[in-house]
Amino acid sequence: MSKSFYKGYWMVTNRCNLSCSYCVLENAPHQLREELDLESKKAMISHLYHKLDFRRLTLSGGEILLIGRRAPNDFIELLRHIRSFRSEDVEKNLGIELYTNGTYLDERVADEMEGVVDVVAVTIDSHQDSFLTQIGRNNKKFNSYYTRIMQVAKLLRDRGIQLKLHSVISQKNHFFLSDEVASILSTIEEVGGKVACWKFYQYMSYDDPKRDQAHAISPEVYEKFKQRVEQSLAGRNANLHFKDNQEMDASLFNILSYGNAQYMRSGDSWTTSRRTQDLRNYDSMSELFSKHDIDKERFCHFHELTT
Ligand code: SF4
Repeated sequence: MSKSFYKGYWMVTNRCNLSCSYCVLENAPHQLREELDLESKKAMISHLYHKLDFRRLTLSGGEILLIGRRAPNDFIELLRHIRSFRSEDVEKNLGIELYTNGTYLDERVADEMEGVVDVVAVTIDSHQDSFLTQIGRNNKKFNSYYTRIMQVAKLLRDRGIQLKLHSVISQKNHFFLSDEVASILSTIEEVGGKVACWKFYQYMSYDDPKRDQAHAISPEVYEKFKQRVEQSLAGRNANLHFKDNQEMDASLFNILSYGNAQYMRSGDSWTTSRRTQDLRNYDSMSELFSKHDIDKERFCHFHELTT
């Protein structure tokens, strides 16, 4: 690509039907009120594509399938809007990755995703149902999380959509998840799924002492976990990515549900992280860079598309 194109991460909604103990999103009424409505969400996608030259978006939440009043109808309408940005031409195509907890991902939604969504990432922090309940991944009628993720793996396989796994590594699971990863991979392969990539996130501090006390792990503990996972999955066909706190801070550019973006400068923490205006107020990335103290080189290192 001679011209610069970008990839972005958009937390489209704070709404979620689960309550994971390490999650920073509050799902608070005022946050939901400030969320862009469906037409504004569509306008944001058009703007990111036409004016800011984004060619890959990761759509996340909260739980993105829950946007709007009658889930998953608004999500499906959003997918139909995105379909118009799909192209065989790599410079014109808008690649889409989706983060979901899978609760609303059924046959109908999967059919709408086919040809629009390239990759779906789901989080697996353990295969033990009791542990998943303990950390909030099972919630009232949305239970059997692990079984559901296996069903999602099958739905995606049938439609040629790639599957990615995410795991959050915290005090609660670092000492046993490395013993489970091989069997998790095998279970997915047994249902015909194929894991394109498995990303292990070191629990990130949100400057919330209570939450941090329960979840934070040191770089040394995280490094040992990494070594054990590499051993357990040696020779298995999955790309592994270990994302530590440094990488998370350096790469942070979260488009928020209100349309602005959160980013950090060196030395910032979650609390001192900065905000842009609504991204639809900028007519180019140069304007965005010049109006804010975003480290352009660092931004491009993580967010510029190279192929
Ligand atoms: S599923 Fe995701 S957004 Fe929902 S509570 Fe868990 S971590 Fe937070």
